[in-house]
Order: sequence, then structure tokens, then C-alpha cells
Amino acid sequence: MAFEGLTERLQQAIGKLKRKGKVSESDVNEVMREIRLALLEADVNFQVVKDFVKDVRKKATGAKVLESLTPAQQIVKIVNEQLTEVMGQEAVPLQKSEKIPTIIMMVGLQGAGKTTTLGKLALKLKNEQHARPLLIAGDVYRPAAIDQLQALGQQIEAPVFSLGTDVSPVEIVRQGLELAQEKKNDYVLIDTAGRLQIDQKLMDELKQITQLAHPDETLLTVDAMTGQNAVEVAKGFNEQLNITGVVLTKLDGDTRGGAALSIRAVTGKPIKFIGQGEKMTDLDVFYPDRMASRILG
Ligand code: GDP
Repeated sequence: MAFEGLTERLQQAIGKLKRKGKVSESDVNEVMREIRLALLEADVNFQVVKDFVKDVRKKATGAKVLESLTPAQQIVKIVNEQLTEVMGQEAVPLQKSEKIPTIIMMVGLQGAGKTTTLGKLALKLKNEQHARPLLIAGDVYRPAAIDQLQALGQQIEAPVFSLGTDVSPVEIVRQGLELAQEKKNDYVLIDTAGRLQIDQKLMDELKQITQLAHPDETLLTVDAMTGQNAVEVAKGFNEQLNITGVVLTKLDGDTRGGAALSIRAVTGKPIKFIGQGEKMTDLDVFYPDRMASRILG
């Protein structure tokens, strides 16, 4: 289960406080040490942990908290608020273009769940907005990616535009956008190539597509299971492409929490959706407050 270790450790740390009637400043310091270790063990970015602990300590050692009748509960509340804040406070909705189509470019490393997420997002738009999305198969380096997108398109009943693997992705996107204009699709979702790691050729190609398509959203898909590596990937993509948001996948697995808690603080970009399974309906809007409550258990 996601965040299992972190939840357990946080509950243990706070549980000790609850058993004490009156809480002193040194009790708070002790809890803060344990929270710090719990976050580090959950693979949260070092600087994020440092700032987090500093902020919670500041809020928790005030007289109002320590002298209240329920200091432990107050501290739980403060930790909850701080978790929410570090993850961005509010859900950030998808941008919608004033004139159709709204263009969403999906980027990410191979295996992160980019193509699957594209299908899930298209289905969500269909179900919730009665949208008529066009999917563009721009990953020409992995022939299986086109078949995969076509299969997803069939499954969710959305058209897929492909020119096979012999045409450049930029040209595929150009023609795909023309088709979308003609067919009056309200959304275009562009699948792009992933690599095993970030390389300049991939980035240059994505930049060319960006210059041509001016996407309303450049969504980076990262695998929550990869922890700090996901955060590094997000940093790298953001520096080069100025992403508009992140989709954190595989939160149905036993991820420790590092990516969920670090990405927003490290990149300044919001997590917009979370993937919680392999089915096309397993995509949810990311709500920082709900995630904080889930982490605290
Ligand atoms: P891409 O290379 O980034 O396009 O990755 P794919 O979309 O092909 O996904 C790689 C694998 O991850 C596939 O087996 C997906 O079913 C799986 N996957 C994607 N998102 C999730 C998720 O949220 N949860 C789980 N459990 N598996 C996922």
C-alpha cells in the first residue's frame, strides 16, 4: 500500500505525544526528530524535509499549542496543514483553451505510464465534459507505442491519428492538428517519445513540437515508485520544457511517498492527476488535502 511506512512512522511519533497529558517543548523536538526521520526514510527530498520540519516546529512550539487542552491533536493538525501546503494546497485544474482545440502534450520517460495516462485522460474528458478528443501518435521510436495508443483509442472510442514510424513527430503533430481543426475536435492529446533517461535529442524534439503546437498543457508523467529519481526527472523536464503539471502514476503500488511530497516544492509545478491502477478509469484529480489525510492515515 502507498505510504504505508510513512503513515506508520508518523502515527507512532504522534501517538507518543497523545499518551502524554501535557506536552513540553522538548517533547515537540523529539516528535520533530522522528517526523524528520520518517520523511527521509520515505525518500522525501532533503531540503523539503528540512523546510517542512522547520515550519512545523515553528507553528507547534507556540504557547497556544503547548498550553491547549489537546496539544497532540493540534500538532496533528499542523502536520496535516503542512503536508497539504507542501503538495500545493489546492487542486490545480487543467487549462482550457479559449478556442478549440485545447492541446495537451504528454511527456515522460519510457515506462512511466505516459501512453496509458493519455488514454485515461481522454476518457475522463469524454466522460466529464462530453469532449471529442483526437489522440496523436507521436512516439515513432517504439512501434509498439503506436499500436498501444490505437488499442487504447479503440477501447475508449476516441480517434487516433498516426502516420506510422517513418514521418517525423513534428510533421505528425502538424498534420494531426490540421485534422483536429477540420473535425472540430475540442481536445488534442499528443503522445510523445519516451527514453530510458533524459537526453538532449529527446528534449530538442519535444521543444520543436512545443514551438509548433503551443500546447495549453505539457503534462509530465512520472512513476511514483521511483521516488527521488522521479523528482530529478521532473526537474530536468521542467528546466527544458517548462511543464505545466505532473501526473504521478502507480500510486496503487507500495510507493514510499518521496515523489508525492517533493515534486511541487522542488519544481514549483503542481501534481494535477494521480494514476491509481492500470484500468482506463484509474485516474484521479490530485487533491493535496486529501493526500495529506491519506498519508496521516
Ligand atoms: P509509457 O512508456 O510511459 O508510455 O508507459 P505505458 O503507458 O506503456 O505504461 C507502462 C506500464 O505501466 C504499463 O504496464 C501500464 O499499464 C502501467 N501503468 C501506467 N499507469 C499505471 C498506474 O497508475 N498504476 C499501475 N499499477 N500501473 C500503471
